[in-house]
Order: sequence, then C-alpha cells, then structure tokens
Amino acid sequence: MKQVFFFILLLSTPAVSQIVAYPKNYFRSPVAIQIALSGNFGELRPNHFHTGIDITTKGVEGVPIKASAEGYVSKIKISHWGYGKVIYVTHPNGFTTVYGHLSDFNTAIAEFIKTSQYAKESYEIELLLTPDQFNVKQGEVIAYSGNTGGSGGPHLHFEIRDTKTEEAINPLLFSMPVKDNVAPTLFSLLVCPANTSSIVNGTNGIHKFSLIKSENEYILQNPKDSIIIFGQVGFAIEANDKENIPTGKNGVYGIKLECDNKIIYASQLERMPFDKSRYINSFIDFAEMRKNNHFYMRSFVLPNNQLPIYDSLVENGYCYFKTEGMHQFKYSISDAFGNSSTLRFKVYAKAKQPTYKNVQTNLDPFSNVILWDTTTVFEESSFRLEIPAGAVYKNELFKHSVIPAKVKELSPKVFMDEMIPLQKPCTLSVYANVPENLQSRAVLAMTNKNGNKICIGGTWEENKITAEIKEFGNFTIVIDSTGPKITTENFDLKGIKQTSLTSLKFIRFTISDNFSGIAFYKASIDGKWVLMQYEPKKKYIWYNFDEHCKPGNHELVLEVIDKVGNKTTYKKSFNR
Ligand SMILES: [Zn+2]
Repeated sequence: MKQVFFFILLLSTPAVSQIVAYPKNYFRSPVAIQIALSGNFGELRPNHFHTGIDITTKGVEGVPIKASAEGYVSKIKISHWGYGKVIYVTHPNGFTTVYGHLSDFNTAIAEFIKTSQYAKESYEIELLLTPDQFNVKQGEVIAYSGNTGGSGGPHLHFEIRDTKTEEAINPLLFSMPVKDNVAPTLFSLLVCPANTSSIVNGTNGIHKFSLIKSENEYILQNPKDSIIIFGQVGFAIEANDKENIPTGKNGVYGIKLECDNKIIYASQLERMPFDKSRYINSFIDFAEMRKNNHFYMRSFVLPNNQLPIYDSLVENGYCYFKTEGMHQFKYSISDAFGNSSTLRFKVYAKAKQPTYKNVQTNLDPFSNVILWDTTTVFEESSFRLEIPAGAVYKNELFKHSVIPAKVKELSPKVFMDEMIPLQKPCTLSVYANVPENLQSRAVLAMTNKNGNKICIGGTWEENKITAEIKEFGNFTIVIDSTGPKITTENFDLKGIKQTSLTSLKFIRFTISDNFSGIAFYKASIDGKWVLMQYEPKKKYIWYNFDEHCKPGNHELVLEVIDKVGNKTTYKKSFNR
C-alpha cells in the first residue's frame, strides 16, 4: 500500500505560479479614509481563500466608494448572500476592480438598477453592462459602503481581477496605500507522517510543536523537544500577519521550506482562480480546523490539489531520508510587503523502522476506501453514497455508521467521518418509510457542530430521498410542515392596527423560517409587484415608499414561501 501511495504522489504536478509585474500607482484607494485591513488576500477561510482586501469603515455604513481608476461599470449584482450589493469596474489596462457588501450606489446607477429590478420583478439581480453605459473617472463616487450579503460587519470588500481570466490578484501587489513593516507571527509546527508506516517520535500520528521567538528567529518553544522521524513526513505551520495599523489577524503571503539549504517547497498567494479556491481544504490541515479552529498551512501537496500557488517543489514537499542522520530545516514566512519571519528546527532521521504505537487506521485496499481519482459508491440497506472522482484530496478510509430507524421514527441516521474534506459534491440517497403525503415536506438534514439541523433539501423517488452533499457529516430526514413567520417591525406595533402609514418612509417586516429556510418572497400593492429589499442575515425585509405607492387607499400583500413549499401570507389595508 505504501508503494501505491507514493506512486500517486508522483503523479501530482501542480501548476507553477508566474512572477508578473503589476502596475504600481495605477489604482488609488477606493476610500478617502486611511486604509485599515480587517482581512487580506489569501486569508484562510472555511472552504475558500479570501480573494480581496477588507477595508474597515470604522463600524459605519455609507462611506463613499470611489472608482479606483478610470473605466466603465461592467457588472452589477445584488444577492442575499455572497458579495451582497456589488459593482465591477473594468479598466483599460486589463484589470477589473470589484467593490462588495455595499449599502447603495450613486444616484444614476441606483436608478438604473431599480428600473431593472422592476422589469425583472426581483430584488436579486445580475446586470452585465457594455462600455457605453456608465463610464467612470478615477476617484468618482460610484457607491456607498455597507454590510450586505455574507459580511460580518460594515466594511468594503475590494478586489482586483485579471479581466480576461477573472482570477483574483493580490491587491497589495499594486502599491495600495497600506503601511506594513510587521513580519508574520509564527505559532506552531505540525509534523505529519505521510502514511501509516511513517513514524514521528514513536507514533504514526501528527505531532504539534509550539514555537517561540528567540532573538530574530523562531525556534521550538521547548528546548528539550526533538523531532525523530522514520519514512516519509511532511510539515505544516500556523502563522498570521498584521499591518502597521493593527486590525486583527490577517493571512501570510509566501511560505518557503528549506532542508539542508535546499528549497523543497515554496508557495505564494499572488493569484487565485475562483474554481480552485476550495482546494484550500487540502492546503490546510482540515481536521485541525474542524476540531480546534486552527489553520495549519501544509508545505506538502496532496495528490488532488490543483492550487496554482506552488513552485520549487521537491517530492511535493515531503521529506524522506534513506540514511540515518540530523537535518537542518528552515521555514521563511513572508507577507506581501516582503517582511519575513524565520523558523529553524532540526530533524533526526532514522534509517531503520523503530518500534512505534499505531494511532492511525490502516487503509485496507479491499473495503471502505475512497480512491481520490475514481468514482466510489457505497451502498448499504439504508443509504447509497456516490463520491465522484476528484472529490477527495487523497485516498481516504470511509469511516461511517448507521443507526436504523426505530419503530416510530421515519428515518435512519447516517454518520460519516466529517474530518474528510470534500472538493466536489457527492450524491447521497437515504432510504426511509416516509408516507407519501409527507414526502413533499420531508428533506434531508445535516446536524452541524452545534447540534442544529441544517436543511440540505432533496428529491423523493419511491422510498428514498436524494440530495447533493458538500461535506460529510451526520444526516437524517426531517419533516417541515410549518410556514415562515412574518412580523411587522415599524408599524402595527403591539398588535394595534394602524390604518394610516402617511408618516412612514418605509415599511419593514422580519421574516424567518423554523427549518428549511426562505426560498421565495413577493410583495404587491394593489396587485402590482413592489421592490422589497431583503437582508436574510438580519431577517429584515422592507419597502421604501416611492412612486409605486401614490396617495390614497391601498392593499399590501406579502407572501413568503419556505424551501419545501409552506406558504405564509400577510395582508394589510392602509392609506397614505
Ligand atoms: Zn472580504
């Protein structure tokens, strides 16, 4: 098995990143305020690398956002999640800048969007524009900062993309006005056996070493610590970076690992194609993130890792020494401004296999193995799971268990090892005796870390429900027969009906759903569609009174439908 594993490693040839000279002083800051970064490019996030810089707006929304350079508005998108309200400006020099989580746009652009929303009868919208529609000059106010979409607080998300390939490029390589002479901080080192017969300090499990800064370099914190290995091993490091204005912990840029003065691994977070970003699940130690919320960056490359961030790889970053002896290792961790921190440590390699404690489960080639490069199907009496080729990053042992449905229960519970990360969705079918009249309200659910059930969805066919799953976890079937809840927010308070809404500039509701989530909403006044803005994070939905509600008596109807089709309708007669 060891040979097979080693052979697979040799097949992997990640793309080499290119050194490109990016234009300096072409793009100005998109804000007039001093840039402080609450997030930088390449920062490690669940299932993706951060593809821009997050500029703090001092806790407020409405900061004017300026075009970073001259160009034309090429795209506008409004969505409940992701970038929220976002605008793209394409520049004549081959780059496009992106401004996300906005609260609003300049008057001309806002009017254009509203007209398009009424034409499509949808708040969510994506508009692709031609160069003759909205030309912008450098520094022109195009929008206002906000907190829309998947944003955890007011800030501007700013990106620079290659217009042709749409790859995101590190904005700090374009001389943005950010001051940084602070070198990255290093926390901890992982020594990882590459397979079940590799040994580190007497076991075939992962070993962790805390780091400390001594004079100008990092060393292992405990001077008595030694690293004794046998067989093939890889290393991973936990580190972060700060700028001169301390705003939190941002990501590092470059990682270089040398063994006996020879580079065996180097990576730079210079560019990121969006379709490769999820390979972060093989760049980090996924189990450490899941269990302890620590992001260890591996300096070895798994067979199914297509990140285009590597160069100088020797044996994919793994070490294997045939003869006995001591070896010197040096990590250099840098930020985008060239500030660098160094870690030195020694490794003693054994030539003969020492006695060791087995803490890993051996991969048994004849059962329960997921091969990364072929489609694997597991079928049992209560479930069927299809894992497509390329869904996992290396060969994995599929640890799972099933609790069959008890007498009064509808569904079995299927448990899968959630420490195995996924690159591609897998198809899961769960067999259950759900009566036909309940099937339209029955969905597959996954239990998350906090014990809450999350709706996955799914379609029924005879006695099974089938859904795409993006991660392994604990699955069961849940019936949702409760409609969404609609609550009035700034009128009809305490249940007292209000017939005149003349004094209100807008009407706001909160909408929520007990389980499956809101799939659709629609509001009309006197039977005609009106634009409601919806922020699912805050549960707010509101209509700003405008020319679509002239003075007089009206009836407002708000319909909200959840993902399994339960519907709630709210009606109100009013005058204004
Ligand atoms: Zn961001």
